[in-house]
This record gives sequence, C-alpha cells and structure tokens, in this order.
Amino acid sequence: MRQGAGLDVAALDRDDPLRHKREAFDIPDGVIYLDGNSLGPLPKAVAPRIAEVVAKEWGKSLIRGWNDHDWIDLPARVGGKVARLIGAEPGTVVATDSTSVNLFKVLAAALQLRPDRRVILSDSGNFPTDLYMAQGLRDLLDRGHELRVVAPEDVEAAIDETVAVVMLTEVDYRTGRRHDMATLTAKAHSAGSLAIWDLAHSAGALPVDLQGAGADFAVGCGYKYLNGGPGAPAFLYVAPKHQGSVTPPLSGWMGHAAPFAFDLDYRPAAGVDRMRVGTPPVLSLAALDAALDVFADVDMEAVRAKSISLCRLFIAEVEARAPDLVFTGPHDFTGRGSQVSFSCAYGYPLMQALIDRGVIGDFRAPDIVRFGFTPLYLSHADVLRAAEILGEIVAAKAWDQEKYHRRAKVT
Ligand SMILES: *Cc1c(COP(=O)(O)O)cnc(C)c1O
Repeated sequence: MRQGAGLDVAALDRDDPLRHKREAFDIPDGVIYLDGNSLGPLPKAVAPRIAEVVAKEWGKSLIRGWNDHDWIDLPARVGGKVARLIGAEPGTVVATDSTSVNLFKVLAAALQLRPDRRVILSDSGNFPTDLYMAQGLRDLLDRGHELRVVAPEDVEAAIDETVAVVMLTEVDYRTGRRHDMATLTAKAHSAGSLAIWDLAHSAGALPVDLQGAGADFAVGCGYKYLNGGPGAPAFLYVAPKHQGSVTPPLSGWMGHAAPFAFDLDYRPAAGVDRMRVGTPPVLSLAALDAALDVFADVDMEAVRAKSISLCRLFIAEVEARAPDLVFTGPHDFTGRGSQVSFSCAYGYPLMQALIDRGVIGDFRAPDIVRFGFTPLYLSHADVLRAAEILGEIVAAKAWDQEKYHRRAKVT
C-alpha cells in the first residue's frame, strides 16, 4: 500500500467515482498531465467526430451542411452544453470567438448599460489579456473611462457608486485564489454596478452558479478544462434580464436578426445570439462539442471533491520533499480553484526537468511553477508519483543543466 501525506492513496483511487472517466481521454503513456488548466488533453471521441465532419459533412454535403447538419446553430448547441456546467439558464450561452474578444464584447455592452459611470474595476491578479482588452476599449471609446486595478483582496472595498463594471476572473491563473462570486456580484449590484466574470479557470474545473450569483455577463475558455483543443472557441454568457437591452459592439451579420435577409442596416438578433459576430468555425466547434460530451454524466460536485483531494495530497507531498518551493495562494479550499502553484527561484529550469520526465505542468513569470488538477483523468497515484519525481529532481539538483535554462517562446 502506498502512503501519501498519511493517506491511503490506493484506497482513494479505488473508491473514486470518477475513476472510469480516464478512459475517455487519449493521454500518452508515461505522461502525468498537470496542465489541463492550460490546454486540456484529447478526448477520444474528438478525432473520429472531426474525421466525420470533414469527410461526410463538409466533403459530401458541401454548402448544404449549414442546414443539413445544422452547422449554423452549433454556437448555441455547444453553448447549451457549457451552460449546464456554469449554472446558466437555457439560451444564455454561445460558443464563439476567443475569450479576449468575448470579454471586449461584454465589457462594451456593460459600459453602455451604465452610461453615467466611468470606472471599470478589476484586480492585479487578473489575466493580462482581460486588462489589455479593457485598456483598448477605454482608449477606443475615448469618453474618460478609467480602468482601476486593485489588489485581489481589496476588490470588495473598492466597489462604490462610481463603478460601472466590476470585471474579474473567478480563479487567479497564477495563485489559484478564488473570488467569492456571489458576494462580489451582490456588492456590485447594491452599488448599482454590473458584474462580468471570466470563468477561464472555473468552467469544467469546479461547480459554477452564474444564475445563483446573479452575474450579469460571463466569458471563458474552451481549450482549458473543457478540452476543446488548441484555440477552441470560447463562450459568452448574457443574463436573461440584459438580453433584450445589450448592444453588441461588434455588430456582425451572424448577430443580425435575419442574416440571410441581407438588409443594409444592422438589427440585433433576439437573445444572446446577437453577441455572435461572423461565420462560426465549424471544425473547431465540432471538436469542442464532442469534448463536452465527456461531461454529460459528470457531477461537478464530485469533480470538486476529488480536485480538493488531489490538490491537498500534492501540496503536502511537495512541501515535505522540496522545501525550496513555497506554496502560493490560500490554503483554505473555499478560496481556491483547481490548480496549485509554488514560487521557486529556479522555477523555469525545474519545470523543464519535470517535463523531460513526463510530468507536465507549466511556468508563469516571474518564478511560479504551476500544476493543474483535472479529476477526470488524474488519480491520486499519479499525483503522488509527480511529487516523488519533483522531489528527486530537487534533491539531485537535476534541474541545473544548460538545456533546462533555455527559454522557449511559449512557457
Ligand atoms: C486563458 C485565459 C484567457 C485566454 O484568452 P484567449 O483569448 O483565449 O487567448 C483569457 N482570460 C483568462 C482569465 C484566462 O485565464
């Protein structure tokens, strides 16, 4: 029996209700994949589905595929599968564009709903693209908006009557710190502000309840915990109460009430469809669509429980074996997402040495080694083995080799 952090790892895996889900994924032999928070692995159903869409739907149906295979409604159909995972009402989510572009669209729409206010409130733990998109929109609008960025723990106190929009990522991509979505959304509303949530590190990782929290808008990634493949379409949520009043800033024909009427003037579609822009990427959507079926019978509470168990084991094992690594982020799991980060002065070469041994996580500047825990295909035995390998590398200083110090373009 293997023991980890005083736990019976074999028993935890034997009693794991999600154990069988690993068979739904194609993960190379010898790899312990701790980077599903950055790029989810390949679900087995995706390759045959893509082959079918290419050969049969595109190859044989040609232009008829838009109707015969209902390609035109793929953004809504795939959005419906995401909606179940994020506690969204039916008909409120579309799968479209990238997270960056979707954030731009909902932020512009939200600012238009609060025309007398000028402050966009965010935090310094937000993912940079979210802040960059807000800066670009602020400059484009040129109406005196201010992007106010405070420390994550200061957000609640910074919400006041000047704030038009509170724009936050629920789970911090570096530290794993998790905002309390319901509390902050309620605070935003009591100040007359709107709340936009980025769920890039939440969707598919933990239970999310957009409806319960009363969120106004949300966006998130298709290629992280949802396993939709590199550059998969992202998703966008608009709360029912705003669907009739939001003005899409990117008024493309796919968001038009009647795209094939070819009117010369824009008229927004009903509902969340108006947030669509151009022709949907059918092949990418088909991959995400097939990938989401892995979640069809998955209870997100079970995912969360196992994620906490895996994270706890890893933190304890790494702390015991590698004292140079300093755990970052809250220890209390109500305030954490599904990834674990440590700061370490030799974080970059350490991560390269880990990857060389099949333990794949990633590095985030300036000194963070980051590991994502994805309960659908990881076991406690995997996590214990990863910590053992990390401990061996640190003890032997095996990371201190020229080849591990060379920086690649993507980290
Ligand atoms: C990963 C991530 C993104 C990525 O945006 P893309 O447009 O898909 O490149 C955006 N926001 C957050 C919070 C993320 O973690």
